[in-house]
Amino acid sequence: MVELKTPEQIAHMRAAGLVVAEIHRRTAEAAVPGASTKDLDDIAAQVLAERGAKPNFLGYGGFPATICTSVNDVVVHGIPDRKTVLRSGDVISIDAGAIVNGWHADAAITVLVGEGHGAELVELSRVTEDSLWAGIAAMRKGNRLVDVSRAVESYIRRQPLPVSGKYGIVEQYGGHGIGSEMHMDPHLLNYVDRRRGRGPRLVPGMCLAIEPMITLGTPKTHVLADEWTVKSNDGTWSSHWEHSVALTEEGPIVLTAPDGGREKLAALGVTAAPDPLA
Ligand code: MG
Repeated sequence: MVELKTPEQIAHMRAAGLVVAEIHRRTAEAAVPGASTKDLDDIAAQVLAERGAKPNFLGYGGFPATICTSVNDVVVHGIPDRKTVLRSGDVISIDAGAIVNGWHADAAITVLVGEGHGAELVELSRVTEDSLWAGIAAMRKGNRLVDVSRAVESYIRRQPLPVSGKYGIVEQYGGHGIGSEMHMDPHLLNYVDRRRGRGPRLVPGMCLAIEPMITLGTPKTHVLADEWTVKSNDGTWSSHWEHSVALTEEGPIVLTAPDGGREKLAALGVTAAPDPLA
């Protein structure tokens, strides 16, 4: 069963999404050489406290922090700590969430720390982010879940290959329904698996967290002994971008984008739904 939200519930999720957007604005500013990942976690906790929002990552399955900070060959679920100090040339994914009035939002950004990144890494982050937006643009009435997966995958497959030879679309993790809980049905693949069928029809009230994760090599990953940190098996660096998106009668609204996704969706020929809080 996929939970369908009322317009009022989507407005609560939008409030949570704007808190997540602020966490990203402030942690991205602070992700400079010399900062530790714990410094970023502290900022996220501060934003939640200021906005009267609750954390959804902290304590989730025992997760010990407010955000996930995944540096270089860490794909997702990195645990912030004081000993991981950012250096110029690093790449970090900052995955953050918030709960407002019981309703969840979840999003991730990739930040290129300092300078000196190779063109391949800059392009990896761009391709990952734009594949997310291709997926968001496929969130429309009449489509099926698989159409979102296909939009993400086919966008990536249309891009020129990196010097490393390939993009690895991570298969062991994916997007998810979101609403009264952070992780809900349906699970959303970032590629098409023909054995799985087409998935549920997309209808107004459905909310998805769409989150492509791509490496500069293998799609295969493993979990470290801390039981959280997910690394690429070949040590190649990765990018991760995510937004929480609601499908409404008037189209999609990107709950975790400051402008609701208006500008990026317009560039793709899609009109974002009006902001429920505007
Ligand atoms: Mg997520």
